[in-house]
Amino acid sequence: MTLYSALTEALQEVPPTREEIIAAQRADSRLYKIIQFLQTGKFSKEDKNNHDIKSESRGYLMDGDMLVFFAPLDDEELDNSGNGFKAAIPRTLVRKALFACHGHPMSGHSGITKTKYRTKQLYHWKRMSKDVRNYVRSCPHCQQYKPRPQKVTAGEYTPHNMSEPWETVAVDLMGPKPSGINQYKWLLVILDNCTKYVELFPLSTATGAIIASKLHKVGCRHGFPKKIISGATIY
Ligand SMILES: [Zn+2]
Repeated sequence: MTLYSALTEALQEVPPTREEIIAAQRADSRLYKIIQFLQTGKFSKEDKNNHDIKSESRGYLMDGDMLVFFAPLDDEELDNSGNGFKAAIPRTLVRKALFACHGHPMSGHSGITKTKYRTKQLYHWKRMSKDVRNYVRSCPHCQQYKPRPQKVTAGEYTPHNMSEPWETVAVDLMGPKPSGINQYKWLLVILDNCTKYVELFPLSTATGAIIASKLHKVGCRHGFPKKIISGATIY
């Protein structure tokens, strides 16, 4: 596939039209059975899964020729807007619907939560959440331009006794920052856990001896801490 053909193919992917949805619903065996049942109140005699179709039809309605499913979002239920009916999307149109809600220029490649919300506003199909997740995660555009936020895991919570100022002090080192030779690359942060008072020291090199000397300086001013917590280096 050439780049040009990939581009023209992408440009053809526009939101499915009402006519397209209606035609695709009738081409889908499960949805077609539901449509038949809703329109006639009957199911074909030779169909062995009659019972399933009857129970599966629950929630579905005909909106003219289009099959819709009643699944209002929380805000739609509250504002009484009547927007609770969603177009029933057969598997063949899932990618097109997802493109409309995520990759379309108007959708701007939103994250999973926002894309899911948009999709739920308009459409209904089974396993939608999983499809949205997979679609967004494997979107080539997003993979190329949006770095995934790094997972931040919280360490074990240890309560510190913070009865007095300068009793417990937290020390953190931020950096290194990209900079020229002899410039400050590091920022030493010394925080009093009780008052949240902070002292900052820009450092060109960050050795144990230098950090100790800065701590000594702070100790001379405020009193020497009983406990020093050394946090993980923050980048
Ligand atoms: Zn994307």
